[in-house]
Amino acid sequence: MRVRPHFVAGTGGYRGAMSYQSINPYNGQLLQTFKELTNPELEKAVATAVAAFAVWREKSFAERAVVMAKAAELMHARVDEFATPVTLEMGKLFAQAQGEVKLSADIIGYYAKNAERFLAPQTLVPESGEAEIQSCPIGVLFGVEPWNFPYYQLARFAAPNLMAGNVVLVKHAGCVPQCAIAFEKLWRDAGAPAGLYTNLLVSYDQVNWIIDDPRIKGVALTGSVEAGKRVAGRAGQNLKKSTMELGGSDAFIVLEDADLEATVKWAVWAKMNNTGQCCVAAKRFIVVEALADQFLAKFTAALSGLKAGDPMDPATTLGPLSTEAALVTLLDQVKRAVAQGAKLALGGKRVDRPGAFMEPTILTDITANNPAFREEFFGPVALFFRVKNEEEAVALANDSEFGLGGAVFTRDVARGKRVASRVETGMMFVNHPTWTSPELPFGGIKNSGYGRELASLGIQEFVNKKLVRVAAIDAAA
Ligand code: NAP
Repeated sequence: MRVRPHFVAGTGGYRGAMSYQSINPYNGQLLQTFKELTNPELEKAVATAVAAFAVWREKSFAERAVVMAKAAELMHARVDEFATPVTLEMGKLFAQAQGEVKLSADIIGYYAKNAERFLAPQTLVPESGEAEIQSCPIGVLFGVEPWNFPYYQLARFAAPNLMAGNVVLVKHAGCVPQCAIAFEKLWRDAGAPAGLYTNLLVSYDQVNWIIDDPRIKGVALTGSVEAGKRVAGRAGQNLKKSTMELGGSDAFIVLEDADLEATVKWAVWAKMNNTGQCCVAAKRFIVVEALADQFLAKFTAALSGLKAGDPMDPATTLGPLSTEAALVTLLDQVKRAVAQGAKLALGGKRVDRPGAFMEPTILTDITANNPAFREEFFGPVALFFRVKNEEEAVALANDSEFGLGGAVFTRDVARGKRVASRVETGMMFVNHPTWTSPELPFGGIKNSGYGRELASLGIQEFVNKKLVRVAAIDAAA
């Protein structure tokens, strides 16, 4: 297998890596390597997907829902079996991996139940006769997906699109091939026809080839800004519809009337869930000065109490990062931030033990000319900012190229909603970190991408909104 360049999230940097490998980041053990598809194998996969679409598009919602409901049921029945490779391949704490499996199953079940309603023909009222908008499937879609939620990301892309009558090809991230293969097998086990859901172990060159292929009708990517630019650019050259779910640097705003104890509890969760490797993890903690010292003291104490260890062990509260390369990138970002004047309130080093472990870290005194001010830190590193008031908090939150999620904490819900509406992101939560569930649309603006996944919006992205007009044959021209 050849070595190829491999992007590291949000940095535009590369890591040297074999293409598709399972390496346990807890101990560095190489678990398995996988071969990329040859071009003839790829061609066969695309042709099979095209043939599957011809049949699948004709199925009723009820017929499609049978396969989907079975897939959801199987995932719920085999939570530990699905969760294990997540923990082994990318280091997620096992309880969180179990939660991700259940959430993914819920997403599949949600679309099985609601897709027909979401895509029901919409009646228009023309001056005479009849007209409606139908939502028709468009064909074979291609998804490029990240490792940080190895099933949830796949479910978010596959479930709505399969229920809409499309079929999907998926290139998953190089470091989670076992999860990618397990998710493909799920569909076979659920009775899906060949070609309905296809996992592709392909190179970047082959990604371009797939996007260029006229049989592919739409492209969705979740990942870093750099990957988004390349894949969206390629789709654009081919005039293909795309959706982009990219990085973020979400603000976690604490106003002076927040409930401090509860807010700190959520701050720890918002930073440390999935060891900070969430697109919507809180990355910039923006605290009004009346609460700033108390917040920082309590937040620091809580983060210092986390215990590194085996992510399979329920006693562990600090898992490893997904790969050694991810750790090296993050350490370098912290080092550069400090070299430019930021201060370390906590951590900053790798944990003194084997595995890709990073100390929970808090950076303060980050000025606008520090590169850290604009970068995404994808791991357990919190950027802490002190502001005078609500006005400054909103201005700082908006001083970012990203616009994914964000949160505001205040006892005054009306005030929270007002602040939420002024922050330039795709999602804002009041008194809770940004998070996800099947019925809430997910996505961003600015460099965080475009389009939405989940909820009704998520199933509308790759359908043809077709006008069907019925007029009297003798109507005036
Ligand atoms: P990544 O390096 O961009 O990888 C994402 C996917 O894109 C992987 O399958 C990767 O394949 C592929 N890829 C990267 N560069 C490519 C290229 N030039 N051509 C073709 N494919 C390419 O991102 P990541 O490190 O896996 O994930 C972390 C990033 O995703 C963070 O920035 C995070 O914020 C973002 N994210 C966003 C959302 C959202 O919904 N907005 C959700 C989760 C994560 P390889 O693995 O083989 O390189």
